[in-house]
Amino acid sequence: MSDVVGYDGRAVVGGVRIGARSGATISAISPVTGTSIAELASFDADDVRNAVSGAAAAFESGVWSRASADDRKATLLRLADIVEGRSDEFARAETLSMGKPIAEANAVDIPGSVATLRWYAELIDKVAGEIPVTPPGSTALVSRVPLGVVGAITPWNYPLEIAVWKIAPALAAGNSVVLKPAETSSITALMLADCAIEAGLPAHVLNVVTGPGSVTGEALVRDDRLDALTFTGSTATAKHLMVASGETGLRRLSLEAGGKSANLVFADVDDIVLAAEKAAFGAYYNQGEVCSANSTILVQREILDAFVEAFRTAALGYTPADPLDPASAAGALVSERHADGVEAAIDEARAAGARVEGGARRTLGNSSAYIDPAIILDLPSDHRLHSHEIFGPVAAILPFDTEEEAIRIANRSGYGLAASVWTGSVARAHRVAGRLTAGTVSVNTVDAIGLTTPFGGFKQSGFGRDLSVHALDNYTGLKTTWIQHG
Ligand code: NDP
Repeated sequence: MSDVVGYDGRAVVGGVRIGARSGATISAISPVTGTSIAELASFDADDVRNAVSGAAAAFESGVWSRASADDRKATLLRLADIVEGRSDEFARAETLSMGKPIAEANAVDIPGSVATLRWYAELIDKVAGEIPVTPPGSTALVSRVPLGVVGAITPWNYPLEIAVWKIAPALAAGNSVVLKPAETSSITALMLADCAIEAGLPAHVLNVVTGPGSVTGEALVRDDRLDALTFTGSTATAKHLMVASGETGLRRLSLEAGGKSANLVFADVDDIVLAAEKAAFGAYYNQGEVCSANSTILVQREILDAFVEAFRTAALGYTPADPLDPASAAGALVSERHADGVEAAIDEARAAGARVEGGARRTLGNSSAYIDPAIILDLPSDHRLHSHEIFGPVAAILPFDTEEEAIRIANRSGYGLAASVWTGSVARAHRVAGRLTAGTVSVNTVDAIGLTTPFGGFKQSGFGRDLSVHALDNYTGLKTTWIQHG
């Protein structure tokens, strides 16, 4: 790791890298090296206002908002090509920023981001308006128009990919964007903005402001010129953003706010070992730092022992190792502080009488942000941890007897982002999927997600959908032009 270099941590406003006017910076500490890998510009309210002013002026000028579909499409496709050409650099920056294994950054995050950019670029000339039925002598046109300035606030678990989930449809629709990435992992968002300039995106159309959420993010949300706000992060912050937005001015909101997802494994499942392997993936992938992680595993009692045995074996595959080693399947948690919180949750389960297997804290190099996959057994089914988002490599396995009981436990977390069902019965698959409160129910797989399908939740998981054509609803409004001609 001695060849780790510092990244440029200055913000991107108006197409150029700039520091905060005050000169303030904050260190981005890598959980891989334990050292600062960038000094991020720490933007205050004036800096953020400046970025929003530029974005608003760019929108009004029409340089992007009224550019031809062909031009917008070509620019976003060029952006995708440039990011793809720098894949290795992006993957390394992502791994150093938040600890995920570089093999996953290379195989999933970066190509996923490139594919998302291409998908929305291609969508630009494929979404048409409507001509509704109106009285004789009139013709009405209903078109989708961009909203204006979109504020985007994104988390650290998929720093580039979730930023692109927001930016790609927002830009495709013709908006200007001011993005505030999580301070722990802003580097790839800044690199993306550099690439956008290289691709020919006009200055001020995509800006990335950096700094703490409580200062920089808060200033962005409090700017009454934002026409839309899109967010992924914790439920507590999502609630705060609703209040702050309401106090500031009406705007379109889409908030994706985490979850506590259940995986229901019925005794009639075709392949217990496959179900256990996928369950381990659903709980431990990305160190369990996934909003739709299936961290509550409900197993019908008849197959509990066989399932736990297979799950134990599968869990070992997620033992953390050097994230920069391409052979590692699991890496570091985002920070030592976050690892402290995950460790505290494991201790709490133990204190409540649960049997905990694994879950040891590890130090690799200078960093102790590593935790072995933990399996929690025999935690009372009404314990608060079953409804608390731990956001680490921790899975609780609970037995159930009846379908009704499994549905009741799965639905009681208060969240509604994702759920999985394993069964050999088509009838049961439909019956149970229909009763689960979740934005996505995966049947005989876990955590299914794709560019063409909407992603988002119900209840405490928020509202609004990323991905698919439905994401355009976050960034466009319907405009009616009524022509009286008779
Ligand atoms: P937060 O909700 O605090 O952070 C998400 C984003 O919101 C970050 O960019 C953060 O900035 C920003 N933010 C924080 N406060 C404000 C504010 N007042 N105004 C505007 N923006 C703000 O999540 P954490 O990173 O603290 O993680 C805490 C927990 O949230 C996790 O343990 C997990 O349970 C959940 N989570 C869920 C995610 C998901 O995918 N749904 C992703 C990340 C976390 P900054 O980080 O710079 O302060």
